[in-house]
Amino acid sequence: MAATARPEALPGDDAPATLAALPGGDPAGQRGRSTSRVLVLNASYEPINVCTVRRATILVLKQRAEILEHGEYALHSESMTIPQPVVIRLVTYVKVPRDAHRRRITRRAVFARDGWSCQYCGSRKGTLTVDHVIPRSKGGTSTWENIVTCCVACNRRKGDRLPRQANMRLRRPPRPPSPTIFIHVAAPVIPRAWQQYLEHVA
Ligand SMILES: [Zn+2]
Repeated sequence: MAATARPEALPGDDAPATLAALPGGDPAGQRGRSTSRVLVLNASYEPINVCTVRRATILVLKQRAEILEHGEYALHSESMTIPQPVVIRLVTYVKVPRDAHRRRITRRAVFARDGWSCQYCGSRKGTLTVDHVIPRSKGGTSTWENIVTCCVACNRRKGDRLPRQANMRLRRPPRPPSPTIFIHVAAPVIPRAWQQYLEHVA
């Protein structure tokens, strides 16, 4: 699981200059990674995590997980060969806090929730930043309801103002993300083999 980031742990959110240097703004650059990721289901078949092939392989070899979907390649350990895991299911049910996803406000999670597009102009090009709708200088909080994906141009234009002061409008009101947001954070492009396991989740 990704480390839990407290909302306060978002330094310099409204400063495009700082954010431009951060990785993760370009969804196209992430596409190659999705194929080497493994979707982890709870024993109940509920998606709970995304991990590396290596981690998934260890879980399978330790018989803590079973492979539900596998890739074309086989993986060889010292003593055995297993198919490349694509979706695994934990053998034992793991209790996951119901609102765990709500606490994890990170830039990538905000981008994923917003479909990697600026919530003011809709642009998906260039560097993405995060914007406090109500600037922190005006009492705005670092919550899902007050943080949106914003392109550099819109972030500059809005500056330290409220949207209406800058004559800008949000495309939709920001809300907490769905419980499966972490999957979209880890893999902006969802592998086909994962889809049937995500469909029943709201
Ligand atoms: Zn924009």
